Amino acid sequence: MNVILVGPPGAGKGTQAETIVEHFKIPHVSTGDMFRDAVRQGTELGKRAQEYMNAGKLVPDEVTIGIVKERLSQPDCDKGFLLDGFPRTVVQAEALDGIMESLGKKIEIVVNIAVPDEIIVERIVGRRSCKKCNTVYHTKFNPPKVEGICDKCGEPLFQRADDQEATAVQRLRVYAEQTNPVLDFYAQKGVVKDIDGNRARAAVWEDVKKVLESYDNN
Ligand code: ADP
Ligand code: AMP
Repeated sequence: MNVILVGPPGAGKGTQAETIVEHFKIPHVSTGDMFRDAVRQGTELGKRAQEYMNAGKLVPDEVTIGIVKERLSQPDCDKGFLLDGFPRTVVQAEALDGIMESLGKKIEIVVNIAVPDEIIVERIVGRRSCKKCNTVYHTKFNPPKVEGICDKCGEPLFQRADDQEATAVQRLRVYAEQTNPVLDFYAQKGVVKDIDGNRARAAVWEDVKKVLESYDNN
């Protein structure tokens, strides 16, 4: 099952991804997580990506496409994968078609998690993330059991540098301009499933599960 999760920043992609990968036993391929790991490790990729990320802009296509190509070629992606945060431009979507063709695979389903902009900013500014395992929390909507500590691995939580209100607004602008056309790209292929993400996490998951199971059983 080769799945893409689409939706504006803060829609709940990473949150749903945690449950999807556990339930369907496929790897979570998040370009945002890959870039943040690279920034933490101080690699050349991290140094290149950081300035774009902090400004709420997209990392250039050629850089992003390169890391995805390498990741999807790894053996754990053979039985399927969940792409989260990629593709974010039509150029990336076209490149992904080429990558899939070269691997003899295809994108079967694009799950679009829709949430209105006015809800998004509160979600983003309250987000707290674990540096070690990338689990996401929210100070109000999904707090950890012990404040500031990851339930899963006991590491301290942090607030992403790009999770400030001004950067969140900029990222929403970038999404509207550059990523909305990606949805049209996949809608033309008839593979998009829309999910109302403006509900509690468990209710969103029920719908996501139904959509993916109906595909998985085909
Ligand atoms: P994305 O990966 O799409 O950027 P996240 O999964 O990181 O979004 O979610 C953004 C923030 O919103 C996080 O703090 C998360 O805990 C919170 N969140 C996710 N899903 C919901 C939901 N259904 N209702 C309320 N808050 C949510
Ligand atoms: P995310 O974790 O998905 O919210 O991504 C955080 C940041 O990483 C984005 O604002 C971009 O700067 C960068 N990024 C993640 N995925 C991509 C992508 N597919 N194309 C370009 N930049 C990306």
